[in-house]
Amino acid sequence: MLRASLNVPIENGVVTNRFRIVRALPTINYLRQHGAKVIVIAHIGRDPGETLQPVHQVLKESCGAHFVSSVTGATVQEAVSKLVDGDVLLLENLRQDDREKAAGDDFAKELSRLADLYVNDAFAASHRSHSSIIGVPKYLPSYFGFNFIHEYEELSKAMKPNHPALFILGGAKFETKLPLVEQYVDTYDTIVVGGALANDIYKAKGHEVGRSLVSDVDMTGHAFLSDPKVQVPVDVVVKGPNGVRTITPDQVNAEESILDAGSKTVEQLAPLVAEAKMILWNGPLGNFEAGFGTVTKELAKLIAESPGYSIVGGGDTIAAIESLGVEEKFNFMSTAGGAMLTFLETGTLPAIDAVAQTSAKAA
Ligand code: ADP
Ligand code: MG
Repeated sequence: MLRASLNVPIENGVVTNRFRIVRALPTINYLRQHGAKVIVIAHIGRDPGETLQPVHQVLKESCGAHFVSSVTGATVQEAVSKLVDGDVLLLENLRQDDREKAAGDDFAKELSRLADLYVNDAFAASHRSHSSIIGVPKYLPSYFGFNFIHEYEELSKAMKPNHPALFILGGAKFETKLPLVEQYVDTYDTIVVGGALANDIYKAKGHEVGRSLVSDVDMTGHAFLSDPKVQVPVDVVVKGPNGVRTITPDQVNAEESILDAGSKTVEQLAPLVAEAKMILWNGPLGNFEAGFGTVTKELAKLIAESPGYSIVGGGDTIAAIESLGVEEKFNFMSTAGGAMLTFLETGTLPAIDAVAQTSAKAA
């Protein structure tokens, strides 16, 4: 039983980005080549009704996978019983069953009865204490897959960077990211806080942020406001009733929204990125999907050109990099968003404890 991370973007029933599927294939193929019957379990999307069928289309092409449109029950048991050595069977979206998130033992037991061994290769889902992550390994001898181990090793490098070390954190929801910045401010030489996160800092500095996206965190009086290690974009692109303009962060009016950084911010970033020995980046610097992806793309180009060791992650961040076709210039692209942040913050994940406990029992 292979827990994979196949949560890819889908439009009109078609997978639009195969990044996570491609990264799942080495472990699937290794298991097949060694004669396993591989039962792949995974989730997709936020709506529990979503289906893995589009993912199956890709897996059918790449490894001849079969599909069963249930998670448990007689149809699944029958599909499993028909497998021959080297076959791959994808089960339907685990989250179609409420018990996956509830993480009760009965669901984990039911899944575990289908298999003899469990492999977790779903690093990107491993910050979740769900049945397929922490429950199934209680009942089967358990291992990690190649993608999981690769993620672990690469992200561990980011925790002990060479200097100067640069951490760029964008995106939204500062309440989920602030603890990480507070922790890494000692380890990294410069932390650039961008995207919607910067709005919270502008606001705390007393600037008008108009209709910009802000978080549930009040940064008023925070040490970061006067810490030279923590930088925010020096110019912003705003949109309001009178159109789009690029200004300094103290010039925003009440009708406007900050949607991107500006070209002076690219100049601000360029020497930092060029000189850094380690560049860690998560989260876009602007509202990418709404057409405000300029500085995010400029940053991707700067990092691609820099000799520093680059580690990047986050669904939206990876999409920006792929749209430029500069993927191969990055030293490591994580398949994870939230799990990357949890791992960087805590040095572990619920999945790691779960698998370690069964290994300990087996030993
Ligand atoms: P990732 O998926 O790379 O981990 P996040 O999910 O944390 O990144 O954040 C990405 C989201 O942040 C995107 O939806 C992006 O549009 C949004 N975002 C970034 N900057 C802004 C901004 N200034 N205003 C509104 N949304 C923003
Ligand atoms: Mg995201």
